[in-house]
Amino acid sequence: MLVSVLDKCVGCGACAIINPEVFDIRDLKAIVNTDKIEQTEDLCIDAAINCPVNAIEINDY
Ligand code: SF4
Repeated sequence: MLVSVLDKCVGCGACAIINPEVFDIRDLKAIVNTDKIEQTEDLCIDAAINCPVNAIEINDY
């Protein structure tokens, strides 16, 4: 699974609350810790669903 944050992120922090292992806020934008995606895929999807501006992109491959 690939997880990325688009430029339209507004830094609300919701993703970092839902999945703190993968998402963190730096300079008012979410960043992704790719090392933890595999163990927390369901929470990555939850974060994407709950992002208020649809800034989290998930690609299965
Ligand atoms: S939930 Fe969306 S808008 Fe909020 S910090 Fe995360 S990626 Fe950015």
